Amino acid sequence: MRPQILFPLFAALDKLPGLGPRLSKLAAKLCGEHVVDLLWHLPVSVIDRRASPSLASAENGAIVTLKVKVERHQKPSHQRQPYRVRCSDGSGFIDLVFFNARDQWLEKNLPIGTWRAISGRVERFGGELNMVHPDHIVPAEELESLQRLEPVYPLTAGLPAKTLRKAIDAALTRLPDLPEWIDPAVMRRDDWPSWREALSSLHRPEAADGFSLQSRARRRLAYDELLANQLALALVRQQNRSLAGRPSQGDGRLREKVLASLPYQLTGSQQQAMHEIAEDMAQANRMLRLLQGDVGSGKTVVALLAMLIAVEAEGQAALLAPTDILARQHFANLQPLAQAAGVEIALLTGRDKGKAREALLSRLAAGDIKLIVGTHALVQEDVVFDDLRLAVVDEQHRFGVQQRVALAGKGRGVDLLVMTATPIPRTLMLTGYGDIDVSRLTEKPPGRQPIDTRTLPIERLDDVVEGLRRAIAGGARIYWVCPLVDESEVIDLAAASERHRHLSQIFGDRVGLVHGKQKAAERDQTMAAFTAGDLDILVATTVIEVGVNVPEATVMVIEHAERFGLAQLHQLRGRVGRGSGKSSCLLLYQTPLGETAKARLSILRESEDGFRIAEEDLRLRGGGELLGTRQSGLPEFRLADLAAHDDLLTMARDDAHLIIERDHNLLSPRGEALRILLYLFQRDAMIKTLRSG
Ligand code: ADP
Ligand code: MG
Repeated sequence: MRPQILFPLFAALDKLPGLGPRLSKLAAKLCGEHVVDLLWHLPVSVIDRRASPSLASAENGAIVTLKVKVERHQKPSHQRQPYRVRCSDGSGFIDLVFFNARDQWLEKNLPIGTWRAISGRVERFGGELNMVHPDHIVPAEELESLQRLEPVYPLTAGLPAKTLRKAIDAALTRLPDLPEWIDPAVMRRDDWPSWREALSSLHRPEAADGFSLQSRARRRLAYDELLANQLALALVRQQNRSLAGRPSQGDGRLREKVLASLPYQLTGSQQQAMHEIAEDMAQANRMLRLLQGDVGSGKTVVALLAMLIAVEAEGQAALLAPTDILARQHFANLQPLAQAAGVEIALLTGRDKGKAREALLSRLAAGDIKLIVGTHALVQEDVVFDDLRLAVVDEQHRFGVQQRVALAGKGRGVDLLVMTATPIPRTLMLTGYGDIDVSRLTEKPPGRQPIDTRTLPIERLDDVVEGLRRAIAGGARIYWVCPLVDESEVIDLAAASERHRHLSQIFGDRVGLVHGKQKAAERDQTMAAFTAGDLDILVATTVIEVGVNVPEATVMVIEHAERFGLAQLHQLRGRVGRGSGKSSCLLLYQTPLGETAKARLSILRESEDGFRIAEEDLRLRGGGELLGTRQSGLPEFRLADLAAHDDLLTMARDDAHLIIERDHNLLSPRGEALRILLYLFQRDAMIKTLRSG
């Protein structure tokens, strides 16, 4: 149901000149499969070719565009010599220098006696002027076409820059005139160009800083993207509000039993969060709340207490976990507590099949099972509840809105509590959730010791191994994490297997390996052996990131730490320091390490405050890379840079609210334009819920 006006923008790339079937695939891999994706592939810098000095005055190192006459060709006398073409302009001479050139091509493009326009970097040695491999050689009449600011695009192997530029130029000629969706007052105040002008001027810059993040054109496009994001979230929220909720009010009897059985007191922030959740659930509106707390801050017990409110109110509650391992772990943690309250709890994952699964489902449907923990298997159609009142989603950014909605659809007016251990900076929170209510666990349970964090170059591996030997002699248990090297799991696995082999040679059979491609049973067995202390070292790909809890583990080694997002490193580090033992974390990096990478790793050394780490990471890297992974459920932005366009995000949020307030079905002329904006950024899923115009 995409509006017709957008059709040219969503055409496939192979329709563009110069991009056949093969190159269009490369281009699609680089930027996306539609014409609009190519248009959003913005230059990262420009080459200024406007200088046009005489040969006599051309300065060493300058990029120049010149009109010259071809004087003679000097072929190399042996292979390693370059081919030289001597040219003049009346003021002096220049040699165009070509290595491994094809004679034929040079003779055809630089015939003796003709005038040519050339552009490239000149070098002056002594009195001699050279230009090695000119970037452009065209007939002299076309000089003007070269004397400009040339955009430089990120490239991919096999796709020539000229081909890409040509395709983008062609795409620019197909830009439709879209109705303006930005408030005219804003357009005037910031002197923003129209959508079409903005795209053209970014790809064909007229000033040397025309491509910068803060140029008017770039800010306008960034705003478009952020507005589409905020408007889509505002629509989801409007939709959510329109669904009736219902109050769940407990009498506290089950919660009291659990609290009495705990060997500890709730921290102040756990109590505060509990209070906020209970109040929310007691309201007639649906709850949509984020429970945010660093690893180890004690979210699990808060989630359980919330779930028990639902049970006290004669209903059921479900907890959705992103992985099998984590679902099992939650279940293992919750079961004894639920038992203390005398409430039945069950586990459902993709591994449950056949009769046992059927029996479980029928007891769930009958309401005998009050609490259930599971993976996305919970969202399957044949999973039916008697009366689901609360869904808790432990998402760690792995679930999309769809799964949340699907689970909530299994009951009437289901309250939703989303738990996340990744401290999310305010900015990202806004882009991922809109204005969601938040409870934060800011205190850690008492008695935690700080984790001694160090950074070391991988060259010092032998020292690390020696250190581990001593730690193991002292009874330590060790995680060794190998990163996602590539998008290919095969390669990742090779790295982890290799490390496993290496460590096994040194430490014998007390080294285990877990990874995502293993059979679940095998993985469980290895995890169990590590938990029980039958293994000293657990080599893992990032599968252990989500929530494993082995309090006896006190050393975390992370290889290629420079490849992880800071938030992710922080999470991994949180796997140690959970017990009473003194813990340490070794971040091994590949040399050489760039300045930013150095700064990033040192933040981790200095701080254990997840929120500070996340904010710094955003500042240093920009939002797109923050979580470092494709799996992050947060939206990625093509045009907006959350670190640079922070102010625009706030503006977009306020604008989206105002739009919904005034024209909640997007029926006004501006509303119509905004619908096009949503389609343009493929955030149109909510449009069908609107009344049509
Ligand atoms: P996370 O927020 O990472 O999910 P958990 O809920 O797994 O954290 O809690 C981490 C550990 O802290 C668990 O062993 C839990 O029993 C313990 N814990 C939770 N709350 C408290 C508290 N108030 N005092 C002491 N220990 C606590
Ligand atoms: Mg947890």
